[in-house]
Amino acid sequence: DEAIHTGHWCVHYRPDLEARYVRRLTITTELKRALASKQNELSMVYQPKIDVQTMKVCSMEALIRWNNANLGFIPPDEFITIAEQAGLIEQVTTWVMNQTISDLAYFRQQGYEFTVAMNLSTQDIQNKKLLDKLVRILAGAGLSPASLELEITESDLVADASLAIENLSSLTAQGFHFAIDDFGTGYSSLAYLKNLPVKTIKIDKSFILALANDKDDQQIVRAVLGLATAFDLKVVAEGVEDKDSLAMLQQWGCDVVQGYYISRPLARSNLEEWLHSSPYSN
Ligand code: C2E
Ligand code: MG
Ligand code: MG
Ligand code: MG
Repeated sequence: DEAIHTGHWCVHYRPDLEARYVRRLTITTELKRALASKQNELSMVYQPKIDVQTMKVCSMEALIRWNNANLGFIPPDEFITIAEQAGLIEQVTTWVMNQTISDLAYFRQQGYEFTVAMNLSTQDIQNKKLLDKLVRILAGAGLSPASLELEITESDLVADASLAIENLSSLTAQGFHFAIDDFGTGYSSLAYLKNLPVKTIKIDKSFILALANDKDDQQIVRAVLGLATAFDLKVVAEGVEDKDSLAMLQQWGCDVVQGYYISRPLARSNLEEWLHSSPYSN
């Protein structure tokens, strides 16, 4: 092994590590450029969430997409993490907020009443300036905080409890609703969540994708649903890919479902078509 020496560290040279480092650097550079440019490299897609009682759309999750001329499609899981590390997440979230709220205003104009759920990263919920911006953009669009849901990943909340709770409480007092995303992956308990101003949990898709055939997942999901009912929490299942999983969730009292079985995430114009023709649409 060849070793690389710098002033601060020494590692054994590994081609895969170098490749990852180069990719991370390229993503950072390209993302900075994409945020500054007027071309539509970044876009939002929306995935319907269905109220299990009525089997109609109640909400849409807003998910960011990035297509780059050199890199192709970059998954949000990958570039959001890099944006956080590179100090770019505030810019990314600002872009997401502007786009999502403008689309939400458009859908309200068209007469649709569903809410839109936006994902916030851990740094966002500690950024008071950014949260104030969110309130301003929403007010500027003539929309109330109740028309937006904010999704926060469970592990982020466990990691940064105190300041996050303060900001969450302040936003809740202004009428915002929060959901705990990827529930089951962050080692929190429902008892712990009871102390947070949160009314909704989203069971992570890793427990849902194979639900119909996996007895362990079935036990876990039933246990979560049982406890959630006791704690008066609304439960969303993400990653519903087949009819049998949907039927189980329905039978066990899950409140809301989201997944490829209902619809994949769709760009605004495709979503409009979907809303015109889907049996899940009002
Ligand atoms: P998430 O918030 O948990 O979003 C759900 C993810 O599950 C989405 O992946 C969605 O496309 C995917 N999904 C939904 N139903 C199914 C299904 O039936 N099967 C499978 N296999 N997957 C399904 P996506 O869009 O790749 O996003 C990944 C993650 O990236 C999100 O997880 C979220 O943590 C993050 N993310 C996406 N957009 C944003 C954003 O605008 N801001 C921030 N901060 N994070 C975002
Ligand atoms: Mg989410
Ligand atoms: Mg997530
Ligand atoms: Mg998830």
